[in-house]
Amino acid sequence: TKIIAFESSADETSVAVVEDGHIVLSNSVATQINSHQRFGGIVPEVASRHHIEWITRVLDDALAQAQVKPSDLDAVAVTYGPGLVGSLLVGLMGAKTFALAHDLPIIPVNHLAGHISAANFNQPIVYPAMALMVSGGHTELVLMTSENKFEVLGETRDDAAGESFDKVGRLLKLPYPAGKTIDEMAHRGKATIKFPTAMAHEDNYDFSFSGLKSAVINYVHHAEQKQETINQDDLATSFQNAVVDALIGRTERALRHYPVKSFVLAGGVAANSQLRESLTTLLNDFNDTIFIPVPLTYTGDNAAMIGAAGYWNYKQNIFADLDLNTDPGLDFELLQS
Ligand code: ATP
Ligand code: FE
Ligand code: MG
Repeated sequence: TKIIAFESSADETSVAVVEDGHIVLSNSVATQINSHQRFGGIVPEVASRHHIEWITRVLDDALAQAQVKPSDLDAVAVTYGPGLVGSLLVGLMGAKTFALAHDLPIIPVNHLAGHISAANFNQPIVYPAMALMVSGGHTELVLMTSENKFEVLGETRDDAAGESFDKVGRLLKLPYPAGKTIDEMAHRGKATIKFPTAMAHEDNYDFSFSGLKSAVINYVHHAEQKQETINQDDLATSFQNAVVDALIGRTERALRHYPVKSFVLAGGVAANSQLRESLTTLLNDFNDTIFIPVPLTYTGDNAAMIGAAGYWNYKQNIFADLDLNTDPGLDFELLQS
């Protein structure tokens, strides 16, 4: 089964062709980071215009790379949420037009399910599974009883994990998005500053990163007032430790409570080297659980992951009509039925 997938929820315009949900025949991604960097974040109007400029080129590229004709394809998968409405609309229009022109069925895909399903590019997820989905807009710990069945165990109450990296990056005047840069700086630094590990003692699986962010802001402002120079690498290490500790703490407790066969790490922050290492170490203690991090090529936004999650829907006969609309606030709860 060959599925062509469209993704345009944020600042990446992407089209991919994926076979049987796990073989990537092509994955064409056009990023527009450069256009947003000087604003320190995504500007919605700029993003929509970029998607419009790029979508046909990315589509042609994906078909050429995969060496397939539209008649070789079985369905069109598309992200319909969550994300920026203007951005989502471009991918949705592209997908609908392609489906109509080539008489193919449309598969609606949740972007968050897409991030998780990309673990199948590493090795098949085995169920029951647990997933930690950490991205620019979300921080979710979910239990999966089978493909496409999600139960949210915990989520962030304020900032997302990736958002906290980006906000600290902005404070340190690093280019947006700052996750990768902070990850590299943290390798060079030492954990000299004690920041709070958010909600370490509360008896639930939720996360909170705004307290940590405030602590970092206070630290920097305090140093500025005293005209002290701060060691940015040490700050990066200390901050990243606090984020990873919070994620690991919740994960460990959830794993003890819910024995699972596999543990998936997904989303843009899944690229973080310390998080991958710490989870590898943690999962060594759980003999019956395989650790399946999403391969680094597919942690950020891409259409291949939408093709993978689209295949789950395809097998369950979940299709949409041409009147499919965007759902900018879509979350996992809506998939739990
Ligand atoms: P969502 O998926 O919630 O809609 P998004 O699609 O914008 O949000 P992703 O593209 O999945 O988010 O992830 C981007 C985030 O990942 C950014 O916040 C970025 O800073 C972060 N990130 C990327 N690489 C790393 C890294 N090595 N360490 C930490 N964070 C990282
Ligand atoms: Fe994403
Ligand atoms: Mg992104």
